[in-house]
Amino acid sequence: MFPLPHAQWPVMSPGSVWLCGAGPGDPGLLTLHALNALRQADVVVYDALVSQQILDWAPQAVLEYAGKRGGKPSAVQQDITDRLVTLARMGKRVLRLKGGDPFVFGRGGEEARVLIAAGIATRIIPGITAGIGGLAYAGIPVTHREVNQAVTFVTGHDATGEAPASVDWTAIAQGSQMIVIYMGMKHVGQIAAKLIAAGRSPDEPAAVVVSATTPEQRVLDTTLGQMEADIAASGLEPPAILCIGEGVRLRHGLDWQALAVGLSPALRPAMAAS
Ligand code: SAH
Repeated sequence: MFPLPHAQWPVMSPGSVWLCGAGPGDPGLLTLHALNALRQADVVVYDALVSQQILDWAPQAVLEYAGKRGGKPSAVQQDITDRLVTLARMGKRVLRLKGGDPFVFGRGGEEARVLIAAGIATRIIPGITAGIGGLAYAGIPVTHREVNQAVTFVTGHDATGEAPASVDWTAIAQGSQMIVIYMGMKHVGQIAAKLIAAGRSPDEPAAVVVSATTPEQRVLDTTLGQMEADIAASGLEPPAILCIGEGVRLRHGLDWQALAVGLSPALRPAMAAS
C-alpha cells in the first residue's frame, strides 16, 4: 500500500499528538501521512465531519468523538484540548483528526498552540480543504486563468455564531473575483446583501455544494441574488460551501461527476437538490 518502505514513514511516539486533516469526506482524499497515522494511533479524537470509512482504517485505536453537541462551543473546545493533553501525558499515541485541513477554519492552530506550550511532541498533517477539494468535486476550479486571479476563503460566522462583524465584505466584494464561504448557510441572506451593496451583481453565478465529495453530495446552481431563497426552497442543510464568482460557470463544462454517469453537465438538473 505504501510507496516507500515502511521504515521510512514517520513513527508516532508514545505521548505525542498528530493534528491531522481528514479531507472533505471521500476517504481517497486522505494523505498518506494521515493513513500512516491511522495505522499507528492508540486513540483517535475525531470531529463530526470525519467519515466512518476513514475511522475504520484505525481498527486498533480507541475512537473518541469530539464533535460539537450544541451548547457552548468555547467550553467544548477547551475540553477537547485538555483531553488531548491528558491522553498524551498518559503516554498514548494520539491522532487528532479533523475534517478538511486542520488549519483552515478548524481551530487547529488553537489546539497546536496549547499542545506545544505543554511540551507535547506535535506534528501537523495538512488535509484537502472543503473550499478547494469540495468545489473540485462540483467541477468548479477555485482559480482559472481567464476568469479570476484571486480567491478569498471566508467564514460565514464567527466564534459567537453570528455573521462575522470583523469581515470587511466590501473589500472582499471589490478585491476578490471568487469568494468561497465556509459555514455560510445560516447568514447567507445577510452576506449576499452586503456583497450586492458593495457592487457585486445579483446575477453573478453562485453555487452551494453540500456534503461535497461524499455520496450525499448535492450542488445547487443559483445566483448571488437568489441564493438565500433557493437554499430555503431546496431544503439543503449544512455542511455546505458557498461560492460566488464567474468561475462557477465553468462547472457547466467541468462537472466530471455528471459526465461519469452519462449526464451532460449542461442538462444536469439546475437544482440538483432533490
Ligand atoms: N477544516 C475544514 C473546515 C471546518 S469548518 C476544512 O478545511 O474543510 C466546517 C465547514 O466546512 C462547514 O460548515 C462547511 O462550510 C465546510 N465543509 C466541510 N466539509 C464539507 C463538505 N464535505 N461539504 C461541504 N462543506 C464542507
